[in-house]
Amino acid sequence: MKTLDTIRQEFSPLTQDIIYFDSGASTLTPNSVVEAMDAYYTQYRSNIHRGIYAWSQQSTDKYELARLKVAQFIQANQVEEIIFTRGTTDSINMIAELLINTFQKGQNIIIPVTEHHSNMLPWRELAQRQELEIRYAGLRDEILDIEELMGHIDENTALVVIGHVSNVLGSIHPIQEIAHKAHSVGALCVVDGAQSVAHIPISVSELGVDAYAFSGHKVYGSTGVGVLWVKYELLQTLTPSRTGGDMVSYVTLDTVEYAPIPQRFEAGTPPIAEVIGLSKAIDWLQEIGWDTIQEHEKKLIDYMWGQISLRPWIHVLGGDKTMSRIGCFAFTIQGIHTHDIAHMLAQHNVCVRAGQHCASGIAETLDIVGSTRITFGLYNTVEEIDICMQALDSIYKTFN
Ligand code: PLP
Repeated sequence: MKTLDTIRQEFSPLTQDIIYFDSGASTLTPNSVVEAMDAYYTQYRSNIHRGIYAWSQQSTDKYELARLKVAQFIQANQVEEIIFTRGTTDSINMIAELLINTFQKGQNIIIPVTEHHSNMLPWRELAQRQELEIRYAGLRDEILDIEELMGHIDENTALVVIGHVSNVLGSIHPIQEIAHKAHSVGALCVVDGAQSVAHIPISVSELGVDAYAFSGHKVYGSTGVGVLWVKYELLQTLTPSRTGGDMVSYVTLDTVEYAPIPQRFEAGTPPIAEVIGLSKAIDWLQEIGWDTIQEHEKKLIDYMWGQISLRPWIHVLGGDKTMSRIGCFAFTIQGIHTHDIAHMLAQHNVCVRAGQHCASGIAETLDIVGSTRITFGLYNTVEEIDICMQALDSIYKTFN
């Protein structure tokens, strides 16, 4: 069984004197994932679905095995529901493109102010084109006001979009209830899972949503690959928005017959090595197991709260300790700019993110310039939290 020590040894960058508290932006990648991608490039580098030679067959097999692994990982009902993309942003843009003609003027779309720009701007664009009303759900006590969101849903609602977990507040949203309410009025529910997949087990079928998006690089895989899961019944009604090679069965100068689902939604050469890497990352996570993952994360979260409560000058956004959350703490310190905090932490070799975290609706609603964000990965330790807190103490002293 993997222990925390052995887990850390699997990440080459961690041999450096660095505390990496920015896994919310991008997790580090275990060596086994890098090796799987390297093997593709050094042993059987070839395109998929086309060649009838062994290398291409091997690439195709690995690529399609990855699809199966992803389907099992998020408990999809059918492997065909998995579409590989370039990342969450790409997935959400794609589902917005695919859905555009299903909406009509006068309908409304519900968007929480907490959304990452990736799950806000594509929908704003779509709303503008189809003349849909946008209804923003705001904050209460610095977290998403679920009651307000539910109250916005009515018979004219076409779509509810929501992040499973806020990338600023770390809050886990009640997706099942929201999807249920959306469906009760005939609306769709699209979920941004960028911040959830590495932290909580996902069952898209249990959640009862219509589409779910995530990125490989936030779940210990590489950059450049993502997943768009769409419920098969919905997928069957959609016409590909992107056309080109590999998504067709038959083309003449006058006619085209698209390939079966899901290949018809994957035009052009996909990120093959990255998909293979994602498959390995899922193996890696599953080897550790959700119990260990969640136990470790809870330990870090509890320890973090303990340290924060000793420092009343740290204000955690959405700082309700009882809230269901992942290891993500965005905070402000009165009188010190968020970028100064991050910059000074970097001088102590602590990597964090500062600013609005591509979710400017939160900063705008709270009327703050931004926040400093600490996010945990599986390799982080309580000792690292201690070092970070001591660094924050010295930063605070410098300004007070
Ligand atoms: N949605 C959320 C909640 C995120 O945290 C992020 C990345 O920070 C994204 C979407 C965008 O992901 P990507 O840049 O991988 O497309």
